[in-house]
Amino acid sequence: MARKVLILGEIRNSSLRNVSFEAIGAARIAAGEGEIVGVLIGDHVQLFGNELIQYGADRVVTVEDDKLKQYTSDGFSKALLAVINQENPEVIIIGHTSLGKDLSPRIASKLDSGLISDVTSIEEIDGNPVFTRPIYSGKAFERKVITDGLVFATIRPNNIEPLVKDEARSGEISSLSVDIRDLRTIVKNVVRKASEGVDLTEANVIVAGGRGVKSKEGFEPLKELAKVLGGAVGASRGACDADYCDYSLQIGQTGKVVTPELYIACGISGAIQHLAGMSNSKVIVAINKDPEANIFQVADYGIVGDLFEVVPMLIEEFAAV
Ligand code: FAD
Repeated sequence: MARKVLILGEIRNSSLRNVSFEAIGAARIAAGEGEIVGVLIGDHVQLFGNELIQYGADRVVTVEDDKLKQYTSDGFSKALLAVINQENPEVIIIGHTSLGKDLSPRIASKLDSGLISDVTSIEEIDGNPVFTRPIYSGKAFERKVITDGLVFATIRPNNIEPLVKDEARSGEISSLSVDIRDLRTIVKNVVRKASEGVDLTEANVIVAGGRGVKSKEGFEPLKELAKVLGGAVGASRGACDADYCDYSLQIGQTGKVVTPELYIACGISGAIQHLAGMSNSKVIVAINKDPEANIFQVADYGIVGDLFEVVPMLIEEFAAV
């Protein structure tokens, strides 16, 4: 089976997000023998074209305009729809990121197509790409296949393997001119919160704190452990509600969904809403004083103890490696 697949490369902080390469990995399965076309939208994005090709895109189409410097729903959807009209793909794959979650339903409704969102794996069965996605807050999985019409999916970061980068690969990078006038939204100014270290949704290691951390200062040893492990700090909603940390760190049903290689939960009880955001992590370590805490139900390794004693020991141990 050969299908033409379009993937959107997502740029943040002047580099391509990993989920762009994972989208190419997914596209390779969906395309079969078909072509993978990378799409880049922004103001100076052509320079990222080669990297998409090195990760497996066959060619790249860019839409550049200074009004696309910042993401806006109407600007990016105008640009992406123009590429879709030109390329006429059979499959479109975008990251299940803030951008993807905003853009994909808008595009899907304009194209009158379905959308399979938050896909965690993809395989080919009987010639059709079959997408697996979690349902009921991650308690079950459903498999979806679209046998007719456009197949449109968003993929959860950190779940689908990217292809191996091949610096010898080359391909065409072309630009498409799109009229980006009359936007209903204009971003005047972007105020960034100083975020420390690695992006939470793409981190391989997450050290997360809950209400058991007890204060803002209580997060310091967790930050240190995350730093030693090259990871990011996350939190339960309990910790965010108590103002121990910023809501941007919240993991769970109403926060971020993460799937790192290693998730260390410190002083988190394991409420179902928290598990919805982290239970698909590859290895879960729980540190909790209460041996009956629900978090131990999903943990691969459990440490019953005071986090303020256990975390410094882990820092010492890992720092020595
Ligand atoms: P607690 O439940 O208070 O647990 C604290 C834990 O710390 C306890 O298990 C305790 O034994 C342990 N502890 C205390 N001191 C120590 C110590 N010194 N060392 C080791 N362990 C210690 N929650 C989320 O996290 N994410 C969400 O996205 C989310 N969305 C929600 C959406 C809705 C609609 C609702 C109703 C709730 C949502 N919640 C969410 C809240 C969720 O139900 C829980 O209230 C919350 O996760 C509890 O946070 P916690 O585990 O940090 O706190």
